Amino acid sequence: MGYKLGEVILSRDTIARRVKELASDIANDAGKDKSLVIVGILTGAAFFLTDLVRELPEELDVRVDFMSVASYGDDTKSSGVVRIFHDLKSSIEGKNVIVVEDIVDSGLTLSHLLELLKSRDPTSLKVCVLLDKYERRKTEVKVDYCGFRIPDKFVVGYGLDCAGMWRHLKDIKYVIEE
Ligand code: 5GP
Repeated sequence: MGYKLGEVILSRDTIARRVKELASDIANDAGKDKSLVIVGILTGAAFFLTDLVRELPEELDVRVDFMSVASYGDDTKSSGVVRIFHDLKSSIEGKNVIVVEDIVDSGLTLSHLLELLKSRDPTSLKVCVLLDKYERRKTEVKVDYCGFRIPDKFVVGYGLDCAGMWRHLKDIKYVIEE
């Protein structure tokens, strides 16, 4: 069985417009004197993050850091279930942190990760996701900024992959099994 690309669900123009709106919401909430640490979750969110931060105003103090994690995928919410492949370079203690993720599905990865980050004592911790498959949620995750709610179908492009493929697509498309 193989995969092929299906129809476009979100075009590059639609994504670009929404990314601008999200950046504007983030900047308004941050206020003038705030500094932000934007934490991208590798690899998928890197594409979204780089577009998002470039839409933030110059006056805002913006730092960017990345993490690479894997959730052990069980239903437990206890900490210690996130395996860190690559950790943040800088401390987030006392910082206003926004975690940027490509897609939230069951919510397990993000909820485990947020628990871990909370234990590092940031002043605030918010979540920005490009895509939300809300029908599939197994655990509650507070999403502060959401690009698009999408149905429960596998998508690729704009950072999202299928077995490592198709991250480089400018549009987000469905994948068809064949
Ligand atoms: P969760 O822990 O929320 O179930 O998993 C989120 C992760 O599942 C995402 O970071 C992503 O790697 C993967 N994922 C969930 N749905 C999709 C999808 O439609 N397309 C792709 N490429 N990855 C997905």
